[in-house]
Amino acid sequence: MNIYDAVVIGGGPAGMTAALYLLRAGVKTLSIEKMAPGGQILMTEEIENYPGFPSGLKGYELADKLSAHLEDYPHDKIMDEVREIKVGDPVHEITVGDGQVVGAKSIVLATGARYRNLGVPGEQRLVGKGVSYCALCDGNFFRDRVVAVVGGGNSALEEALYLSRLVKKLYLIHRRDEFRGALCYQNKCFTHEKIEILRSTVVDEIVGDAEVQKLALTNVKTGEKSSLDVEGAFIFVGFEPVMSFVPDAVEKNVHGIVTDVEMCTNVPGIFAAGDIRAKMCRQVATAVGDGATAATSAFSYLEQLGD
Ligand SMILES: Cc1cc2nc3c(=O)[nH]c(=O)nc-3n(C[C@H](O)[C@H](O)[C@H](O)COP(=O)(O)OP(=O)(O)OC[C@H]3O[C@@H](n4cnc5c(N)ncnc54)[C@H](O)[C@@H]3O)c2cc1C
Repeated sequence: MNIYDAVVIGGGPAGMTAALYLLRAGVKTLSIEKMAPGGQILMTEEIENYPGFPSGLKGYELADKLSAHLEDYPHDKIMDEVREIKVGDPVHEITVGDGQVVGAKSIVLATGARYRNLGVPGEQRLVGKGVSYCALCDGNFFRDRVVAVVGGGNSALEEALYLSRLVKKLYLIHRRDEFRGALCYQNKCFTHEKIEILRSTVVDEIVGDAEVQKLALTNVKTGEKSSLDVEGAFIFVGFEPVMSFVPDAVEKNVHGIVTDVEMCTNVPGIFAAGDIRAKMCRQVATAVGDGATAATSAFSYLEQLGD
């Protein structure tokens, strides 16, 4: 079994930053990514809020830049999915898809998160063309326009309130009568002059050629069909950190892996960075910051461990 000082799992912005910092510190590092490097930014048409790029940049461009920067520091890579981690002392064992096992004195977990889709016609085709899963990322594109927010939990209500500061009009669409989100958010949404609530309503289709133009809706109580003209559809129907392979020993909650501010988990030698963490702000800028912090903490841990 090959033993590495550090293994970074996930090649999104958090993982690539962690690997870069570890390699620059001279740490023997392996990076594991199951697909192409880039993570969620590969699904992002335009990133407008990453500092230093005032005219914005395409998601794939940022992925290429991060990946090219990392390639300046030759290191071992595995292109496969991590299936299991066995916690050890001081060497943890990581099993990848083909059954190969590698040893790691320290691990940075950076496998990100997935936003649940509505699963309706038009949704996938119109991502980045009016369909969004992130108000903080894309809200600015919808200034003074008409949008819908779909969902009934805290994220839907919080994102609706955030968007209401930017847009002309917002329809909040929920399939049930009752909202699940916190009462304080509900009250703010229900009394907001720009927000109109559509209860007991499901989206059947997101309609548009080059961009979102309307939503086809059904009222689940009456069966009545309708059509709603909107320019954007923000979907907040669930969020899952990618952590099924993370051992039970690592503390987690429904929002992700629990860490302290130094990205340390409760298990010595295991760190987490980026969207996999239980945190509020899931952005490229915060993923990159987490990655740098996790790598620095892993480096200090390895120093204390000695040889
Ligand atoms: C459509 C969309 C638009 C967005 N727009 C913006 C924006 O404009 N501005 C902004 O700041 N943020 C934006 N975001 C959010 C931003 O992309 C994320 O916050 C950021 O990518 C998180 O980085 P990460 O490295 O933590 O995780 P991810 O980017 O999710 O990367 C995780 C990586 O881990 C890999 N992986 C997963 N499981 C395994 C496994 N078991 N083994 C090996 N590899 C694995 C995945 O393949 C992936 O490459 C957007 C997100 C989406 C979905």
